[in-house]
Amino acid sequence: MPRRFGRFGGAYVPETLVPALVELEATWRSARRDPEFRAQLALLRTTLAGRPTPLYHARRLSRRGRGAEIWLKREDLVHGGAHKFNNALGQGLLAVRMHKPRLIAETGAGQHGVATAMIGAALGLETEVYMGEVDIERQRPNVERMELLGARVVPVRDGTRTLKDAINRALRDWIANVRTTHYLLGSAVGPHPFPTIVADFQSVIGREVRRQSIRAFGRLPDLAVACVGGGSNAIGTFHPLRRTSVELLGVEAGGPRGRGRGAASLARGSPGVLHGSFSYVLQDADGQMEETTSISAGLDYAGVGPEHAFLKESGRARYVSVHDEEALAAFHWLAEDEGILPALEPAHAIYAAVREARRRPAREKIVVTLSGRGDKDLEVVRRASR
Ligand SMILES: *Cc1c(COP(=O)(O)O)cnc(C)c1O
Repeated sequence: MPRRFGRFGGAYVPETLVPALVELEATWRSARRDPEFRAQLALLRTTLAGRPTPLYHARRLSRRGRGAEIWLKREDLVHGGAHKFNNALGQGLLAVRMHKPRLIAETGAGQHGVATAMIGAALGLETEVYMGEVDIERQRPNVERMELLGARVVPVRDGTRTLKDAINRALRDWIANVRTTHYLLGSAVGPHPFPTIVADFQSVIGREVRRQSIRAFGRLPDLAVACVGGGSNAIGTFHPLRRTSVELLGVEAGGPRGRGRGAASLARGSPGVLHGSFSYVLQDADGQMEETTSISAGLDYAGVGPEHAFLKESGRARYVSVHDEEALAAFHWLAEDEGILPALEPAHAIYAAVREARRRPAREKIVVTLSGRGDKDLEVVRRASR
């Protein structure tokens, strides 16, 4: 029975994929209960991924907000420079447990492709990454990284030649090679059980936030903020906090000010099916996917994970959008106030956090998930800031 989050989620896939999804769920369930698997995951989280990541009090950035304190959960310090490796590590170990010698993945900006190539190399698995031709041109350095890590990057020439076409190609490959291949999906999207498994592996973020907040300031924060593309770093932050009184704020890409709907699936989309799951999507009146636009490639996706659709409709989390220009401003704030170059994705969350801090008293604490570092975005920032 496909898992749902309220009316969202499910598994809208061809019959041939059902056994693989069932096998994946069963493997994950048995792995979670297996002390040996848990010990191996814990060991690699510390020795390979670099966890736990710190919780940092951004004092000078907080002054800019002139209100609540802002604390940063430093996922930019994870191996590879983003939270993506938390999920790639977990799923890589599941592939080994299923005796599958081959990994495939989709990638847009290339961050998830790099994380998959890293774990593929570390575990000795053959790795192929589907990537749209347009993205290959835009994200050259990550293509080179993947190739140096021993992965094969497969150019996708269908459709708009971007992320959604790469996902379609990866799904087709999986259907053809399901006995030898694990599809290492990169966000909390897609058919059940992916949204649940990805949320589980990313929940290490929120569990650390819980523990570290109590150690740092004696209680849980008042507000947790994270950016939302497919929604994996946000659900990893929110999930362990969802039964507490902590307010949850997801931040989507609003795109360039005054033009289009950006990539804000929750704020401006409507319910529909995309890539095997019922959730919010940016679609036109005929149900055709809309082209998304965002300065950050990692948020540039027309869909969003089904658990976020549920958290939105149930009112447990709030979702707002932030424009390209605002995210760019926040990039420079964090660079100049704290000496940290953020990726453009979490720069959206930083902007929203400073906006929230202004409206809140000094005793309140805001934790923002800094999902990745900005080295990959320097060229985009330089061009946009001219
Ligand atoms: C991919 C990416 C995102 C967006 O993905 P989610 O699944 O929504 O977390 C956000 N930040 C960084 C740094 C990324 O690489």
